[in-house]
Amino acid sequence: MTVFSEVYLDGRWVDTDRRVPVHDPSDGSVIAEVAVAGEAECDAAVDAAARAFDGFAALPGRQRGEMLRRAFEIMTAEAEGIARLVSRENGKILADARAEVGYAAEFFRWFSEEAVRVGGDFRRAPNGDKTIVVTHQPVGVSLLVTPWNFPAAMLTRKIGPALAAGCTVVVKPALETPLTALAIADILHRAGVPGGVVNVVTPSPAGPAVARMLRDPRVRNLSFTGSTEVGRLLLRQAADRVVRTSMELGGNAPFLVLDDADLDEAVDGALVAKLRNGGAACTAANRFYVSRGVAEEFTAKLTEAMAAITMAPGLTDGAQLGASVSLEERDKVAALVDASVSGGGEVLTGGRIPDGLGAFYPATVLRVTPGDPILAEEIFGPVAPVVAVDSDEEAVALANASEYGLIGYVYSSDLGRAFRTAEALQSGMVAINKGVISDPAAPFGGYKQSGLGREGGFAGIHEFLETKYIGVEI
Ligand code: NAP
Repeated sequence: MTVFSEVYLDGRWVDTDRRVPVHDPSDGSVIAEVAVAGEAECDAAVDAAARAFDGFAALPGRQRGEMLRRAFEIMTAEAEGIARLVSRENGKILADARAEVGYAAEFFRWFSEEAVRVGGDFRRAPNGDKTIVVTHQPVGVSLLVTPWNFPAAMLTRKIGPALAAGCTVVVKPALETPLTALAIADILHRAGVPGGVVNVVTPSPAGPAVARMLRDPRVRNLSFTGSTEVGRLLLRQAADRVVRTSMELGGNAPFLVLDDADLDEAVDGALVAKLRNGGAACTAANRFYVSRGVAEEFTAKLTEAMAAITMAPGLTDGAQLGASVSLEERDKVAALVDASVSGGGEVLTGGRIPDGLGAFYPATVLRVTPGDPILAEEIFGPVAPVVAVDSDEEAVALANASEYGLIGYVYSSDLGRAFRTAEALQSGMVAINKGVISDPAAPFGGYKQSGLGREGGFAGIHEFLETKYIGVEI
C-alpha cells in the first residue's frame, strides 16, 4: 500500500523543508521519512479547518454519516495493508494490529449511525411561561492529539464523532507513528470528506506547535489521548482561553481474582488484559490482586503461560509479543522491573532484556507486596506484578489507592459478588470475567486522573457538540 509521508492540509499533500525518520522498532530500520510540520503548516491547518467549518456543519447529518460509512468500508476493505503498517511503525504483533484496525474502522461505522441520531428536548417550562427547546450544535474547530500505542483506533475514535457532529479537525498524531494517521487521512479523502475538514500535521517537537494552535482563537475544542503528565499540561494551556477539552489519559488497571474465580479463565483473561499490544495499552492490567487462597495456583499458571509466550518482530508468523515502540520505552519498563527487584520483588519469569537488536522486553511475572513501587506506575509493557490479598475489601482498597481510575478487571464465579466489587472500584470501566471490553458502542473513559469525558457510545458525539437552550413563547 502507498505510504504517505507529507502533511495533509486542506485536502492536499504538502511537503515541508524538514523530514524525520519513522523507525520499525523491531530492528531499527527506517520505514519512511515524514515531513515535519512547521509553524506555517500548523497555522495553515487551523486556517483550512476554520474555513471549512461553516459549510461542513451545515451539511445534513445523513451526508456526513455517509462519508463516515464510506470511510468504514474503505478501511475494512484495506484492513490488511493498514494493519501491516501499524505493526511496522508501532512494533505490535500483526494479530493485535489487525484487531486494532477492525476496532478503528468500527468507530467510523458507529458514528456514521450516530450522525443522524442527535436528539434534543422540547418541553413546557414548569411555570408555563415559555417553551424550553434544547438543541445541539458542533463545537467548532477541534484539535485532536493522539498517542503511538493505538495509532489507528485513537484517531478514528475522535475523527468519527467529530465529523458526525459537524466539526472540522486538525490532527496531531504521535511522531513515532504518524504513517497510520496519514493513511487514515487518505481514506477519508477518498471517502469524499471535503478539503479542510480533516488536516494532519506532524510537528517536532510537539509542545510548542500544540501550544500555538491552542492559542488560536478559532480552535474551540481539544481532544487528547496520551499520558496524564501531558494531559495536565494541556489542561493548563487550554484554561487560558477556556477551550473545551476531553482527556483520555493514563491508567493503572487493577486485575482482581477473587477466591471463587475459575482460575483457567482468569489466566486466559489476564494474558489478554496484560499482553494485548505488548502491555502498551491504557487498559492494560497493571496490578494483579489475587485472593491468598488461590494466589499460588493462579501465579503458577500465569507464570507458565507467560514463560511460553513467543517474542518476535510483529510481522513474524507465530509472534505473540512484539517490540516496544522504541528503545526508550523498553528501557523504562526494564527500569521499573529492576527497581521492583531491588526492593524485594521476585522475578518468576522474564525480567531481563534479551540480547540482539530491537526494542524487546519479555513477558514477565513478578511476585510483589502491596508497597512495591511498580504498583504505582503505568508499566506500559508485558510485566505482571502479582500481590496476594486477604479479602475482597483489601483488594478493592488497594485497587482504589491510585491516582488513576480508567478500568478494573474482576474475576469471580459469583456474578453478584463480582458486580458489587465492580461498583466499588473507582474506575470508569470494569470488565467482569473478560480480558477486554473496549467497544465502539460503549462509553470509554476514566475517573480521577485517567481523564475527562467519554469516547464512543452515545456519549462520544457529545464531546463535539455544544448544548443550546432556546426559550420561546409558543
Ligand atoms: P504522550 O507522551 O502523552 O504523547 C501523546 C501525544 O501528545 C503525542 O502526539 C505527543 O506527540 C503529544 N505530546 C507530547 N508532549 C506534548 C506537549 N508538551 N504538548 C502537546 N502535545 C504533546 O503519550 P504516549 O507516550 O504517546 O502514549 C502513552 C500514554 O497514552 C499512556 O499514558 C497511555 O495510558 C495513554 N493512553 C490513554 C488512552 C485512553 O483512552 N485513556 C488510550 C491510549 C493511550 P509526540 O509523539 O510528537 O511527542
